[in-house]
Amino acid sequence: MKVLICDALAKDSVDGLKGLGVEVVENTSIEKEELAGIIADFDGVIVRSRTKIRKDLIDIAAGSVKFIIRAGVGLDNIDAEYAREKGIEVINTPEASTNGVAELAVAHMLALLRHIPKATASMKEGKWPKKELKGNELGSCTVGIIGLGRIGRRTAQLVKCFGASVIGYDPYVEEVQGTDIKIVDLDELLTSSDIISLHLPHTDETHHLIGRKELGKMKNTSYLVNCARGGVIDENALYNALKGGEIRGAALDVFEEEPPTDLKLMELDNFICTPHLGAQAVESSNRVGEEVVKKVKSKL
Ligand code: NAD
Repeated sequence: MKVLICDALAKDSVDGLKGLGVEVVENTSIEKEELAGIIADFDGVIVRSRTKIRKDLIDIAAGSVKFIIRAGVGLDNIDAEYAREKGIEVINTPEASTNGVAELAVAHMLALLRHIPKATASMKEGKWPKKELKGNELGSCTVGIIGLGRIGRRTAQLVKCFGASVIGYDPYVEEVQGTDIKIVDLDELLTSSDIISLHLPHTDETHHLIGRKELGKMKNTSYLVNCARGGVIDENALYNALKGGEIRGAALDVFEEEPPTDLKLMELDNFICTPHLGAQAVESSNRVGEEVVKKVKSKL
């Protein structure tokens, strides 16, 4: 079996694949044109989020490539339905990064509530802004989780350890068994939450789910955290809401365009961010790698 790795995978996993007797080609900076020229030489292709596998590449791959593995969760960089129609199996590793993303979401909540980035920046300028930066405890907050899947539920579990109350909105979930998460409609979640954390996929249905109208319904003391996908928030509307004081602050790990070229959010004091770091924890990457090896093994 011959497999092409298009995006960086943990070394142990590459070694694991080789140990299975798989012929592995690593080209982790490959661009579309080069990929189009070689994709049909492989039985399997492994990508993370950088490499896009769209219909034109799938047409070239069809008949040769048997599977595409997305090392991670989101399949928005792959035309997965089309690939399946063309007989190519599309596989992801949904469990592996759940905890890493949930922990990052909580880290953003704490950073916003306790003004950690602002405090760091001020101190590095030689200031001592002790009085100005009084924060709030996460334990006093109502956290609204939008999207009650794996990461949303893990985030709920973590914030509950801090003593926060959790409400959730997910049109496809009626209850989360074994928890006391109160399921509410979107309006109630927007108006009642002190922090809203997004954990839903970006689809046609969820595009700009959080826009001007929704931001307008949030408390002006509330925070918004997005560690799901860019595109579920209208970033222009977010900029206006932050600038106009409609909400107190926001943290984004994911952007409509990555890396973002429109940098106006970065100018705002009440905005903090990370460059799509959700799954970028050693433990998450290792779990993703182990899952990839298992999936390839099952294809031998
Ligand atoms: P999941 O499939 O387990 O859960 C997603 C949930 O969203 C489901 O329960 C679904 O019913 C719900 N949902 C769908 N449409 C909705 C809507 N209109 N309103 C509210 N909820 C809706 O997925 P997951 O593993 O929990 O991942 C959640 C998100 O996190 C995905 O977008 C994924 O791409 C993203 N993610 C980000 C990173 C990162 O690095 N930041 C890493 C991994 C995953």
